[in-house]
Amino acid sequence: MRICVYLGSSPGHSPVYREAAEQVGRLLAERGIGLVYGGGTVGLMGVIADAVCAAGGEVIGVIPEALRAREHDHPGLTELHVVKTMHERKAMMAQFADGFLCLPGGIGTLEEIFEAWCWSQLGYHEKPCGLLNVNGFYTPMSTFIDSVVQEGFLQPRHRAMLLIDDDAKVLLDRMAQYLPPQTEHWLGAEDL
Ligand code: AMP
Repeated sequence: MRICVYLGSSPGHSPVYREAAEQVGRLLAERGIGLVYGGGTVGLMGVIADAVCAAGGEVIGVIPEALRAREHDHPGLTELHVVKTMHERKAMMAQFADGFLCLPGGIGTLEEIFEAWCWSQLGYHEKPCGLLNVNGFYTPMSTFIDSVVQEGFLQPRHRAMLLIDDDAKVLLDRMAQYLPPQTEHWLGAEDL
């Protein structure tokens, strides 16, 4: 069992973001869930990888060659895959994972969770998508998504596919209810 975590390549201003990334890393290791992430040492990405490694868990990183200088390969990972493009990175991360979890981050993080959620809406996979609302970070976005439903651009059942919670343990429990028994139904980016 592995979960792909999308989160900032920056640490954010408040220590609560770092603490949340550490907590999720410890929880994954405690529950025997492997971490799949971007492979770097920077920002919250580095924090969660350090936390899983320190707790003896499995960490798989996937990094595009061109970003190695900027995101700095993490030296302690179980596996580090160096790929050519961002599209390869995202497809490989998705293939390794049984679910997708988003912590606070910038536009890279947002783009990645929206893609995973969108592919779920389209039926390309049945893996759960979760949003950890640390410190109310995602409350304005959640309100906006509600308005997308109200305005008729998103069906309530598709909105419900993005699980949102401010408690990491509760969110992981909720995601576990939706984990597919098989993961080979995943279609890669080349199938889109
Ligand atoms: P950010 O949330 O902007 O700090 O970025 C978090 C991670 O997303 C970093 O590993 C970035 O390399 C990655 N990223 C940035 N842009 C994209 C993109 N278009 N698609 C996928 N990942 C991206």
